[in-house]
Amino acid sequence: MADSGLRARELLARFRQGERLALARTISVVENREPGYRDLLAALYPQTGHARRVGITGPPGSGKSTLVDRLARAYATKGDRVGIVAVDPTSPFTGGALLGDRVRMTDLSDLAGVFIRSMATRGAAGGLAAATRDVTLVLEAFGFDVLLIETVGVGQIEIEVMNICDSVALMFVPESGDGVQTLKAGLIEIAHIYLVNKADRPGADQLASELDQVLAERRGQGQWDYPVITTEAVNRKGIERVAGELIRHYDFLRSGGSLVRVRRKQAAADLENALRDRVQTYLLTDVLPPTVIEQYAQKIAGGTHDPFSAAEEIWRAFLTRAGEIRKQEQSR
Ligand code: GDP
Repeated sequence: MADSGLRARELLARFRQGERLALARTISVVENREPGYRDLLAALYPQTGHARRVGITGPPGSGKSTLVDRLARAYATKGDRVGIVAVDPTSPFTGGALLGDRVRMTDLSDLAGVFIRSMATRGAAGGLAAATRDVTLVLEAFGFDVLLIETVGVGQIEIEVMNICDSVALMFVPESGDGVQTLKAGLIEIAHIYLVNKADRPGADQLASELDQVLAERRGQGQWDYPVITTEAVNRKGIERVAGELIRHYDFLRSGGSLVRVRRKQAAADLENALRDRVQTYLLTDVLPPTVIEQYAQKIAGGTHDPFSAAEEIWRAFLTRAGEIRKQEQSR
């Protein structure tokens, strides 16, 4: 479609001139998988790779949004341009109730050089992580120096999202108490910096020293020292230290050659995402008529088929069809 191609080129030109409206529009096209989003991402990808990608995760209510707000201000004061992606668990089921008294970072968007985007939970876990990754790529191409990616909770989606970050900070509060258990449950794998926020409350030092003990073993195995930092995000205490440790971790990755490895892993994930997305649309949209799903759904509901053998039948029919298309293309 020449028309949509022209619109995409106009959007790209405005994006490259640094227009924030064009940035917001591009993110929407990418997040909602609107026509042309793949071409947009392909055009922008060469401008990515320079930003520090920071993930901040931890239980709801621990103070992540407050910390992100304070961190972003600290970075912006130093002249860094900061892109924030808040991966929000709001779903039809929680209705946003989970957010409780979470701080909304709306004031931040008035700050020059700071841009915030919320991502709503999408159907599949892989879908949300992939869409978040694509949105961070768009922000990076726009020229942000730091990307702060905040997720609420510590489940599978969060782990997937944190995989797109170079440095991950994991937040606890004195009340969490089960912090050490959570670490043992495998979360320790994803974080590089550990935060005990709400240090104005009792038990913060105790939790910090428990974390220190758990991390001791890991510290012995590598070069990085996994710092534990107590903070009072709401009172702006410890923010400079967090900012400093994040920079130190980034420098550590860069100087030790690990950044190249981390980025290669991210590139592999980008390729897998793009391929999965391509196959999925090819199979479900380009090749498979919607009526096929409808027909099989009736059979499954009627008890004559199960979804797994039905998927196998459709897959085989697809392979045959793909073979025919290839032959047609070759004979042209
Ligand atoms: P998130 O869900 O992890 O993003 O948490 P929020 O940043 O929204 O914070 C949840 C609540 O904790 C808010 O009412 C904050 O004001 C409060 N909070 C954040 N940091 C601190 C802190 O250091 N001490 C105390 N006492 N409260 C804090």
